[in-house]
Amino acid sequence: MSNPGVFAMALEQLEAAAKRLKLSDSTLRVLSHPERELTVACPVVMDDGRIEVFTGHRVQHSNARGPCKGGIRFHETVTLDEVKALSMWMTWKCAVVNIPYGGGKGGVQVDVTKLSKEEIRRLTRRYTVSIMPIIGPHKDIPAPDVGTNAETMGWIMDTVSMFQGSTVLDIVTGKSIELGGSLGRREATGRGVMFNTLELLKRLDMDAGKTSVAVQGFGNVGSVSADLLQKAGCKVVAVSDVSGAYYNQNGLPIAEMIEYCKTSKHGLLEGFTSNCVSKIGRQELFELDVDILVPAALEKQITLENASKIKAKAIIEGANGPTTPDAEKYLLKKGKYIVPDILANSGGVVVSYFEWVQSINSFFWDEDEVNRNLKNVIVKSFDSVWKIAQQEKVDLRNAAMMIAVSRVATAVEERGIFP
Ligand code: NAD
Repeated sequence: MSNPGVFAMALEQLEAAAKRLKLSDSTLRVLSHPERELTVACPVVMDDGRIEVFTGHRVQHSNARGPCKGGIRFHETVTLDEVKALSMWMTWKCAVVNIPYGGGKGGVQVDVTKLSKEEIRRLTRRYTVSIMPIIGPHKDIPAPDVGTNAETMGWIMDTVSMFQGSTVLDIVTGKSIELGGSLGRREATGRGVMFNTLELLKRLDMDAGKTSVAVQGFGNVGSVSADLLQKAGCKVVAVSDVSGAYYNQNGLPIAEMIEYCKTSKHGLLEGFTSNCVSKIGRQELFELDVDILVPAALEKQITLENASKIKAKAIIEGANGPTTPDAEKYLLKKGKYIVPDILANSGGVVVSYFEWVQSINSFFWDEDEVNRNLKNVIVKSFDSVWKIAQQEKVDLRNAAMMIAVSRVATAVEERGIFP
């Protein structure tokens, strides 16, 4: 199953912001094109001796404000179109939270559930060598995304280090703590989702203790968001992953579910049972009578087809691009709030930035310092987006995009076009 049209969705969002900002056609033209797109074929010797060839991409949308930054996705639906969109969203994300990075993204079209760990390791190393000419600590710094994790980042770091002849800590972020990762990085995206949710609740005069939440996706972003929102007082009544959706109107045992996934097949909730937890349809999760919905799986999950059934007052986009533009228009008309991906899930790249800074300096912070600095960045960014939304009478995505695009456009214009 491919995922056509995601880049078109990203362009539509850019064009809307450009129009509001009265950006020149020339600058818009520059920002509409990723600076570099690399597609690579990665042959891998499988455990049975067969050779499989996997297609991978690395796209660098913009380095106007600093080196490109963005995750690497291992998933069967990865396409160049999707990676281009994700790289553009990374540019806006880094700009809206004002960290000195541009945007990049990588991906390999592969169903990791069908590969052994050794096969994934060989694929990761081959893909790393194939994109090595364009990545680097001051050029483009990968990180984890769907289907990749700290272990994958460790393999990338090791591969680059083997070629360099010395350990290159700052080539990737999202590494394990033992390999120079940052405390708090694994939880950072979910923690950012939690901070964004609490900021929104404050603005809407809502009490976390009286707020119910449903979360789609129980991977890195979804599980940590659910856990931290629950710890912040919210009642998390439903979560889902590819195996199905799990529901308890009085609140789910999130910590127990996270523990279960540590040893379950492919880290899924499949087979999880507990008192009062019932299984519901994955689509049903969107239709629950909750206050907050957190899509934290993949793109285009909220569409015109299911938008009319959404009862939640607000959507906090843990995933990248989970809401299609027409669904968003419909939901905004209904008075719903959507905290856009580039702000809602920016916690990951903010702590990736902290990790990079720590790796460069070989000086590591304690977890409190990481979390405190993350909170400062998110609270400040949310506040500036909220203020622009009020001032300009636009929704939160347009406000966030106006801030982000204006920062990147200024950098492009001040640098000028080479030569
Ligand atoms: P992950 O691979 O750890 O988890 C993805 C989860 O989504 C899994 O639980 C999977 O089973 C579930 N899922 C997939 N399709 C589903 C469906 N149709 N219904 C229900 N569940 C489904 O990935 P992740 O790192 O948590 O990333 C999730 C999203 O967040 C992606 O859009 C990613 O780009 C974005 N994101 C991730 C980070 C990060 O730091 N990991 C940072 C910013 C944004």
